[in-house]
Amino acid sequence: MIDLLANPGNPALVAAVNEDLRQTAATVRASDVYLMDISGLTIAAASYREPSSFLGRNFNYQTYFSQALGGALSSFSVYGTTTGERGYFYAAPVEDGERIVGVLAVKFNVSAFESIWRGANSEFMVADRNDFVFMSSRPDWHFRAMRPLSDATLRLIAQNLQYPIDRIELLPITTSPLDADARLVTIEGTERETYILTSQRLADLDWTMSSLSPIGPATLNALQSLLIAGLTGLLLLGALLAYLLKQARLTEAFAKEQDAKRVLEAAVADRTTDLETALGDLRQTQTDLIQAGKLSALGQMSAALSHEFNQPLAAVKTYADNANAFLDRDQVAQAKDNINRISKMADRMATISAHLRNFARRPQQATGPLLLNAVVQDALAVIEMRLAAQGGEIAYTPPKTEIWVTGGHVRLQQVIVNLINNALDAMEDQAKRVVTLDVTGTSLHVRDTGPGIEHDAIAKIFDPFFTTKAPGKGLGLGLSISYNIVSDFGGTLCAANHPDGGAIFTVKLQRAAPIKVAAQ
Ligand code: ADP
Repeated sequence: MIDLLANPGNPALVAAVNEDLRQTAATVRASDVYLMDISGLTIAAASYREPSSFLGRNFNYQTYFSQALGGALSSFSVYGTTTGERGYFYAAPVEDGERIVGVLAVKFNVSAFESIWRGANSEFMVADRNDFVFMSSRPDWHFRAMRPLSDATLRLIAQNLQYPIDRIELLPITTSPLDADARLVTIEGTERETYILTSQRLADLDWTMSSLSPIGPATLNALQSLLIAGLTGLLLLGALLAYLLKQARLTEAFAKEQDAKRVLEAAVADRTTDLETALGDLRQTQTDLIQAGKLSALGQMSAALSHEFNQPLAAVKTYADNANAFLDRDQVAQAKDNINRISKMADRMATISAHLRNFARRPQQATGPLLLNAVVQDALAVIEMRLAAQGGEIAYTPPKTEIWVTGGHVRLQQVIVNLINNALDAMEDQAKRVVTLDVTGTSLHVRDTGPGIEHDAIAKIFDPFFTTKAPGKGLGLGLSISYNIVSDFGGTLCAANHPDGGAIFTVKLQRAAPIKVAAQ
């Protein structure tokens, strides 16, 4: 790159750097990586083959460019003036000895990140230090300010071409505090929506990330029992009304019409008031429960997420600084090592996102008859890698006869892999690690010889985000996802401690009629 900056007209150098940048962008999943000379002109770009490439464009007006040219490693969120996409940009000076000879910038496409969240039950948004929302799972919240922006801020935004000034609007939001961490917010859009909002400040970036859970019908699952109780109440009241009406009709036949009607109306009015009061109470209880339940789930989730993402982010920052320092000293091998670590961290964050996505969307896939042994064998093939790397054994006695169960092949395999992984985790400190799998009837038992499940934990292990693992080692979603999967199959997943020590998890499935030609 330094050579190219010195000889920008050299076609062989342009081609080589372009290709280098393209591969780098693919590795870090950036939407572009590009090199600018000190005038801001882009002389090489990962996107060189694309029609909308930055090649030849001048970015000297961008804050990230001027900051990097001043010698700082800068980062900036900005509305892409070339592509119309929102991007998050990092820029660093390119130094030749003491001299800054150019600027290298990396652009990440914000919408790619947002798409991970789409389809989850909650909405989310990320606002900058001015409470300006530049990222959100809801496209109609983009470029909305949560409070009026001062003229100075607007001027700065316009000057930096940071956001499309003509699209900036105030988000019609009203909030009231619920407790220390959460607020109840109402947002007027095409319709009026109410959410519970919890926020987390990302201090390094000076951003606030908020999660908004709608208070709506989707959250009522947990309240089923309450609703049933409520419905029973309604039915009783309904029967009472019907009875009153019937009685009224009889009365009408016998008594003076007007009098009887008045009595009836009064009675109905009385009962209606009772009914309304009962309904009001029910609704209040419901709302209280939703809030209590959601707040604790949200609290757990924000804590888990901010930890899971902050820790690798902090690591990435350190590795990037290291790599930078090594590059300054021409210690390419060490720099490369640090960059590899950054790549691993990115993989890890991607895995976490994938987990969350699985958790948020539970697709209603079809289930069918499966040969239990075939699924177990496939799960064992997946585990093989871990066993090879970290040791541990599986003792599995396949059933003597063919056992057909109802389920989905991949999802059941995921459950089994999960249980085996947990069993191996539980025995991490032991020299001998054996996971025993066996089948009785249509049940699969996964047993380990670890410490077993702690007494206080046993009621909570299937809760989302419950984990006793060291920070960074578990998200606490595995068992919760597995539990839901097995329930989808009409089966059950339960956990116990074995009398001889260790934990034993049992997946009990429904028996299915065998199919002749297995379409597995
Ligand atoms: P994670 O593995 O990310 O912690 P899980 O939902 O898979 O999430 O497990 C939740 C918790 O259940 C674990 O943190 C652990 O405390 C407990 N647990 C799961 N499997 C076992 C096991 N085989 N032995 C002991 N405890 C277990």
